[in-house]
Amino acid sequence: MPKARQAFRLKSSNKPGFAKSVTNGPKGPFCFSQFPSDSGILCFSLFIPNVMQCHCDSKQPFPDCCQPFLEGRLEAPDPLTLMRSRYSAYCTGAGEYLVHTWHPDTLEKLDAATLRESGLSTEWLGLNIVFSRGTPADTEGEVEFKVRYREHDRVVLLHERSRFVRFEGRWVYHSGLHNPPKTGPNQPCPCHSGKKYKHCCNRR
Ligand SMILES: [Zn+2]
Ligand SMILES: [Zn+2]
Repeated sequence: MPKARQAFRLKSSNKPGFAKSVTNGPKGPFCFSQFPSDSGILCFSLFIPNVMQCHCDSKQPFPDCCQPFLEGRLEAPDPLTLMRSRYSAYCTGAGEYLVHTWHPDTLEKLDAATLRESGLSTEWLGLNIVFSRGTPADTEGEVEFKVRYREHDRVVLLHERSRFVRFEGRWVYHSGLHNPPKTGPNQPCPCHSGKKYKHCCNRR
């Protein structure tokens, strides 16, 4: 798509975070104030919607979603938010964050540099949440998810049910079970809602 067309689309976007910044930007219609650029084209090219959208499939702009967690400005309030932010951390190579949100009992010899390298050397293709359990008031919870990534020209599906616990007040990843048992549509939902799976998280 020609840049001019993108500019038009961006200008008319109703995405959260776009309209406000576009109309209130002090340096012209396409600039955020924190980007010191006199070049409208350069500045604008940083803000095509795909660049802004978070990695974690939330459909939210990255700065409004996982970025504050990855930068240590906020702690994830529940297991689902932490799971999403850790996926974004792999996508962006935020190794320090992955260490920070990993229980020391199960982290073993992994370090930030190794996790950063692992994240950046992988082509991540998407995250899907199967179910999640755990509120800000809880001390443990679970998130089941599917992650796709490319490895040697083939797509790999990672299906895991992860356990999250509180450690020193914050949520951390503890451990995970790969390829967990399938939940039937008429079985109780594993999120502990008391509903049948087909009427609860299966509808995601
Ligand atoms: Zn996110
Ligand atoms: Zn459920």
